[in-house]
Amino acid sequence: MTEASKVMPTASRARRDAGKVRWAIVGASQIARSWVAKAIQSVPDAELVAVVSRSADRGRAFADDLGIPVSATSLKSLLAETAIDAVYVSTNNDRHRDDTLEAAAAGLHVLCEKPLGLTLYDAVEMARTCDRAGVVLATNHHMRGAATHRAIRDLVLTGQIGRPLAARVMYCEYLPKELQTWRTKDKTQGGVIYDLTVHNVDVLRFVLADEPVEVMSMKASSLIGENGVEDQVQSIVNFASGLIAYMHEGQVFAHHETALEIHGTEGSIYGRGILDEAPSGRVYVRRGTEMTEIPVEPANLYATTIARFNAAVLHGDRPAATGWDGVASLATALAVRRSAQEGVRVSVPRFEKNPPVPVA
Ligand code: NDP
Repeated sequence: MTEASKVMPTASRARRDAGKVRWAIVGASQIARSWVAKAIQSVPDAELVAVVSRSADRGRAFADDLGIPVSATSLKSLLAETAIDAVYVSTNNDRHRDDTLEAAAAGLHVLCEKPLGLTLYDAVEMARTCDRAGVVLATNHHMRGAATHRAIRDLVLTGQIGRPLAARVMYCEYLPKELQTWRTKDKTQGGVIYDLTVHNVDVLRFVLADEPVEVMSMKASSLIGENGVEDQVQSIVNFASGLIAYMHEGQVFAHHETALEIHGTEGSIYGRGILDEAPSGRVYVRRGTEMTEIPVEPANLYATTIARFNAAVLHGDRPAATGWDGVASLATALAVRRSAQEGVRVSVPRFEKNPPVPVA
């Protein structure tokens, strides 16, 4: 690792003209280590400059292992010495709000992990603050970077299966032992709803270009959830178009294949093994009894997300999932939680600033 850069922060626009986005990772997390750091390093117009960790030792080890030039123990101390354009907030769920607001106040663009916040109030505050600060806020709903999901979305939006009537999405996996920490024990920020339901909601919103309006859910602490933390949940979701979706998220299934199905008037789409961090799975269209595989060129989901984020910063494009997408997907996930807790149907609030996914 080299010494910290002595370059003083310069105006964001001047750095944009240089054509590269200078990144810092906030939080020396497992997902940053496994996927996102390398994804940033693989994208030509991105430069991974620094990591911020509360622990100097953990930050230094992370930086050394991943070839990151600078490590710092706070964003403030980093910015005193190093010019940064964007941060990837990869901390625990209960730190997303504060880390995002601190970055926005410093004029930095933010890619924040999901769930965007713990409450709708926090998430809306994050999105509004970033809008006012004129910085990009994106949510790391990385499935939007999956070639399989993009292929399914294209099939749906180009009318290949006619009018979609129903959907099913099953993000069921076994949470590795080493991740059974705050996710499975801490009621304030853990549980499968914050972990996977937000993803499933976002997947459906993305591939259908449709918005949930009402949910009915049940949850359980079946195997690994402690202190009342849920480890699986099942829901029925009504969408604005009239489509009905079934969602199942679980952290307790060692043998369950993930799946996404969309059933329309002219055909059905079957996505098998396609909810993951790695590029994986297959997509089929079924008409009558005939099943046809749709060829999909695999791509790194996180690299696609970073490339889209950079395009938003450098050229004003739309990131893969905006901050307001993070708000909307969280809103439905929180409706799922309330429905499961209270045993009632729950309406999903809509947001003015939540633009529908463009149909193009
Ligand atoms: P980790 O538990 O690995 O890390 C979370 C935070 O804890 C880190 O920011 C780090 O903060 C601290 N930390 C890391 N290792 C240790 C340790 N050994 N002892 C004590 N503290 C430690 O989180 P995950 O990577 O599992 O998740 C981070 C975020 O990413 C979450 O919001 C999660 O929901 C999301 N996520 C998203 C995925 C996606 O594909 N979109 C996939 C997986 C997770 P610090 O360095 O400041 O101390």
